[in-house]
Amino acid sequence: MDGYAGKIAYADLSAGNVTIKPTPPELKKLYIGGRGFGIRLLTDMVDPKVDPLGEENMLVFAAGPLTGTGIPLGSRYEVSTISPLSNTAMSGNSGGVFGWKMKKAGFDAVVVSGRSRRPLWLFLDSGKAEFRDASGLWGMTTGQTTDAIIKELDDQSVRVSCIGPAGENKVRFACIINEKTRAIGRGGTGAVMGSKNLKAIAARGNLPIKIADETKLTEVKERVKKKITENGIEQALTKYGTAVLVNIINENYVLPTRNFQTAHFAAAEKVSGETMAATILKQNTGCYACIVKCGRVCEFDGEKGEGTE
Ligand code: SF4
Repeated sequence: MDGYAGKIAYADLSAGNVTIKPTPPELKKLYIGGRGFGIRLLTDMVDPKVDPLGEENMLVFAAGPLTGTGIPLGSRYEVSTISPLSNTAMSGNSGGVFGWKMKKAGFDAVVVSGRSRRPLWLFLDSGKAEFRDASGLWGMTTGQTTDAIIKELDDQSVRVSCIGPAGENKVRFACIINEKTRAIGRGGTGAVMGSKNLKAIAARGNLPIKIADETKLTEVKERVKKKITENGIEQALTKYGTAVLVNIINENYVLPTRNFQTAHFAAAEKVSGETMAATILKQNTGCYACIVKCGRVCEFDGEKGEGTE
């Protein structure tokens, strides 16, 4: 069994230090990675009745064994915590490049605990991890934070997962954003990060991800690619993005409308993937190793940028 970077970083914001330990074999065997790692570690280390925005809550950033191996769609990482929205254990996930970079920096997971007295960011750098001062970043948007860290390190290969003012102010549905446009979008993970005074995690490195059987992995990659390219749903996602679902779910009366007061939107066609593709779509984008590329670059009123998926 492999596909792991080999280490977990335990970042204690109260103590201001980071301890690095090997990824336990039984954790890999029983819980595989990502959400499995996150919920297991959370269950072991956090009282379920904890105040989600208190010092005792934890955030676990974790990727799985496929992330970073080049397998199609193998880009995801999960963040698990006790949610300030539901007061229960939760996981959210995001694509982009950060999950791959976290593993190339040497880490299968980062366990964030405690609370810092001043804003900090965490730098994962080729098997090492350290806190850095984030006083100058506090108040910045996620895009500004990402640019500032890349500028400080003078390295375009760095990938950043961070919070903006919503997370800093503990808005209970605040997201964690990586690469400016990819979101851990559920459960208020950004608020938990803000409550800990942790502004960002940045990852850099090119360490190997151990592959148990390269030949077999290449075979599986080809099989997965074939399945994806032959699948009608994936073809529609490439053509119209995630918004291909707008018309479908609207016709089935399950489209959340006006804050879920109704489940049908009369003007849904105007914001559907089909309409966007015909009017404002400029090009597709995608996460690391993704051949679907459901991400969109759109132009509207002279403004061009990423979104919506
Ligand atoms: S581009 Fe879309 S389909 Fe591909 S991994 Fe990212 S979110 Fe998933």
